[in-house]
Amino acid sequence: MQTIGKCKLCQLEKPLLNRSHIIPDFMYASLFDKDHKLNKFAPADYIEGDKHISRPSSGEYESNLLCSQCDNEIIGRYETYARKALYSKVDETSDLPECENFITNGGLKFTKCKNLHYKEFKLFLLSILWRASISNRDFFKEVNLGPYEDTIRQMILSGDPKQEETFPILMMTWLNDKSFATDLVGQPGINRKENGIRYIFPIAGVTYIYHISPVSLKKDLKEFILSSKNEATLLHIPEGKSKEFLMTYFGVNKS
Ligand SMILES: [Zn+2]
Repeated sequence: MQTIGKCKLCQLEKPLLNRSHIIPDFMYASLFDKDHKLNKFAPADYIEGDKHISRPSSGEYESNLLCSQCDNEIIGRYETYARKALYSKVDETSDLPECENFITNGGLKFTKCKNLHYKEFKLFLLSILWRASISNRDFFKEVNLGPYEDTIRQMILSGDPKQEETFPILMMTWLNDKSFATDLVGQPGINRKENGIRYIFPIAGVTYIYHISPVSLKKDLKEFILSSKNEATLLHIPEGKSKEFLMTYFGVNKS
């Protein structure tokens, strides 16, 4: 039985879906263990030595948030693109991003991808942040966009990703750091120790960093944000540094 209510995206009175995912299943693809359970952790607890890991049986979803048109067609279109761009094999489809690895003089490794559609990919990533913000689930309790929630809602609804420096997004990976678990989904968090608001979503070995206030983006990282020239950079966290990195970015380091 479907509840009639106000859809959070289009804001119209409509039948609402019983099940809307906050983080789409395909992003957990490599994370389901043999029992089809996910490993999850709250970074603050994990880093401070409490290795308690909750094991919910699927990704996070919620009822009565969205109408079927908004979830399946509007957000669905961005998800379809992201799934194709991130997880397709080269021989399965054309129009895929082309990626190359680089290293800076300072020894920072990164992967640069061309032909990653800015509009679809940015709106896909913002839709995860936005869904986490409208969610009432405990796992997303740190995410509350306040007045920005409506700005991002309108961007998703109208298909407008705005300029790259509006809610700039950085992506970092610890997949190459064998000293750190790759099969974890971190509880999305907000960094409270530094200037500006910045949300951090660690999903499947990649950390997505959303900068809500422009000052929260460090100047020297500006060149690595998701680019409106259809380019994306994935920064590699140096081996052995993933834990330290997450601590710093989550602002849970003891200083
Ligand atoms: Zn709707």
